[in-house]
Amino acid sequence: MRAISLLFHDVWQDHADESGFTSEAANRYKLTCADFDAQLAGVTDVRSDAPLLASAITRLDDEAAPSGRVPFLVTVDDGGVSYWTSIAERLERRDWRGHCFVSTDFIGRRGFLDREQIRGLAARGHVIGSHSASHPTRFHTLPFDRMVAERSRSRLVLEDTLGCGVDVASVPGGFYSPRVARAAYEAGIRVLFTSEPVTRVEAQDGCVIVGRFTLRRGDPRDRAQRLVSAPGWTRSLEWATWNAKALVKPLLGPSYIRVADWLMAARPSSRAS
Ligand SMILES: [Zn+2]
Repeated sequence: MRAISLLFHDVWQDHADESGFTSEAANRYKLTCADFDAQLAGVTDVRSDAPLLASAITRLDDEAAPSGRVPFLVTVDDGGVSYWTSIAERLERRDWRGHCFVSTDFIGRRGFLDREQIRGLAARGHVIGSHSASHPTRFHTLPFDRMVAERSRSRLVLEDTLGCGVDVASVPGGFYSPRVARAAYEAGIRVLFTSEPVTRVEAQDGCVIVGRFTLRRGDPRDRAQRLVSAPGWTRSLEWATWNAKALVKPLLGPSYIRVADWLMAARPSSRAS
């Protein structure tokens, strides 16, 4: 099947450091509440169906997709407190629910969700998943055993918090490889979200792998709308750009951010903003 999975990070009202990780690199992924509202409103304008949840994604085939269109999902990485303070209510206003991926070593720290809030979000119908324990930025390069340990520790904390099983996760840094999937499976994960901008949902080493389209600071306010309504070729273009980045990142090291900026600026959707 195919699915258009949207990837958000924290949103903020007064300052980007309110929620989640606080480096300049992290802040590049955060939206203001107003920008987040605009992205959601854009989706609502073109889609009457609610976003899918991970529990449904494994059961659907293309023909069974609601409204005959490629279904979409809402996911939020890192476990920042803004899912509790700002994001959940905005989704629920539309009768939507999303996926909240938590970096469990940060639970209860300043700017991050605490256990009570995580339980509250689950009770309100949001899917709680693992975003690793310590949020290694280059997760895909970790030794295999370390990947499994990160996943297992994170999953145990969430299961202890929620009192039920947790088998959904996203990859910090987003890069995907078969090793990443194998490690996730070994740690009990069955649905794994990457940051590879693809709509294809496929089984790999026991896990269902779901790509995602990232929304960043400075994106055009109709980017989410374009993603959920666009013809396939615009998403394919994004996939091509992503692959170019994946190729140059290990070679360029610190220069990567500048090149990534250039690539992002070269995207047709950015020029249209
Ligand atoms: Zn992250």
